[in-house]
Amino acid sequence: MPYTDKVLICRECGTSFTFTVGEQAFFASRGLTNEPGRCPSCRSARKAGGSPLGDSYVHYGPFASFGGRTPRQMHPAVCANCNQMTEVPFLPRAGRPVYCSDCFNAVRQTTGKNGDHAFEGGS
Ligand SMILES: [Zn+2]
Ligand SMILES: [Zn+2]
Repeated sequence: MPYTDKVLICRECGTSFTFTVGEQAFFASRGLTNEPGRCPSCRSARKAGGSPLGDSYVHYGPFASFGGRTPRQMHPAVCANCNQMTEVPFLPRAGRPVYCSDCFNAVRQTTGKNGDHAFEGGS
């Protein structure tokens, strides 16, 4: 069967790329029957990244909650509750207590309820 160049769509970045005759012959010579799912640049990026875990693997770092994008600037602060060093994604203001995440959750649970102000300003 003669080979012809094929245009495929990269499943990673969605760009079309050419699966050339040479590559098809190369694939066939290695007994690979599947067409490549990714464009050359995504393939080499994956190789360079060295991720052995496959398609769905995402690099989760300390900033995973930011969706893996450039992390927000973090500011060092001291927790007003337990005095541990922590980091907050906003600039701490004087007079405003900053809590570590543990204490923040605890504080929010005790003060963040509905009707927090329900009994303020009574006669
Ligand atoms: Zn691609
Ligand atoms: Zn704390």
